[in-house]
Amino acid sequence: MSKFFSKWNYPTTVRFGVGRISELPDALAAAGIKKPLFVTDPGLARLPLVASTLKLLDAAKVIYGVFSDVRPNPVEANLNAGIAVFKAGKHDGVVAFGGGSALDLGKLIAFQAGQTRPVWDFEDVGDWWTRADAAAIAPIVAVPTTAGTGSEVGRAAVLTNETTHTKKIIFHPKLLPTIVIADPALSVGMPPFITAGTGMDALAHCLEAYCAPGFHPMADGIAIEGMRLVFENLPKAFADGTDIVARANMMAAAAMGATAFQKGLGAIHSLSHPVGALYDTHHGMTNAVFMPYVLAFNRPAVEERIGRLSAYLGVKGGFDGFARTVLKLRKELKVPHTLPGLIKDLSMDKKRKALIAEMALADPSTGSNPVKLTKKALAGILENSIEGSL
Ligand code: NAD
Repeated sequence: MSKFFSKWNYPTTVRFGVGRISELPDALAAAGIKKPLFVTDPGLARLPLVASTLKLLDAAKVIYGVFSDVRPNPVEANLNAGIAVFKAGKHDGVVAFGGGSALDLGKLIAFQAGQTRPVWDFEDVGDWWTRADAAAIAPIVAVPTTAGTGSEVGRAAVLTNETTHTKKIIFHPKLLPTIVIADPALSVGMPPFITAGTGMDALAHCLEAYCAPGFHPMADGIAIEGMRLVFENLPKAFADGTDIVARANMMAAAAMGATAFQKGLGAIHSLSHPVGALYDTHHGMTNAVFMPYVLAFNRPAVEERIGRLSAYLGVKGGFDGFARTVLKLRKELKVPHTLPGLIKDLSMDKKRKALIAEMALADPSTGSNPVKLTKKALAGILENSIEGSL
């Protein structure tokens, strides 16, 4: 019966729907935030969608500060700068507004501003999160503008450690935003490359969660419906960014992926994290490159599960049919088939490949891959993704 011992966590209040960004002042009041720091990234800060959102706050006479020094794959220097602004402005909460980078950094500012230990002490290892002073964590309202990471409904945030060149997952239950406003209209302006990469991130979350071992039928159910939404809507959102139905379904799929992956992730993420940290690649696009190679590697453990998934998706041919569907989707979205296709002028010597395999083995996603991973196995998957051999 030990198989049936499990822990299930479900997300937070999500106000989902086109136009619901107008509820931001109300959401702040509901979350108990009187003087928020609005955290976004510099690209978004220049777009009308940030200006129009700030106008909503002005109209409601909310006093706020803005912080946008957030680079993609954010680093500790971004966090420290944000904390300084949070403290100087005497803010009492955060609006995290943007893709995974701005969402994660906004969440981390709210989390870390009141802590005395270094942020790395709260890495997602064992019960390290209990080291945090939970009472000192400020509330968060999250507003996603991409549809992929699902960080808006997650209890973790990713921060790159520039000293060790590793992507670290910081975990605390109170990193979960108090309220999410998921307004699909905010994602309409995403360029096709980001639409594809973030959408494939959502697919990677659902797929890896579904394939992860462990008893979590709720996560499994969410993951398979999340995958259906991605297969049916991502090509539409990619082809026509103004397709609001496709955008809405993708925003839902992203939240579903992050809800499902509390069950676990796997080798796609184990490899994507070190590659992202070393080459600063887009996280979702890197996942998309690794996906078919990891699927092929995991086949012995997941063939039957994937067969059931294929039946649900209406895909013929069981595992092989599903693998073909993934390849077809990647091609449609112009995802590079190999790592050198993603990283221009890539030259990886033996030492560098060994380092990536070693970092991947140490990644927290590794433990929940359905086939036990070794350094040799990860090096093999990496090699296949360089050669393009499936
Ligand atoms: P991102 O946040 O890095 O954004 C990518 C680019 O898209 C930026 O230039 C941004 O300005 C632009 N952009 C965002 N929304 C836009 C819009 N509506 N219109 C036009 N441009 C827009 O990309 P992402 O893929 O959303 O996030 C990636 C980050 O999230 C990585 O750091 C990754 O490690 C992290 N991540 C976190 C989790 C988690 O659970 N917390 C999960 C997966 C990934």
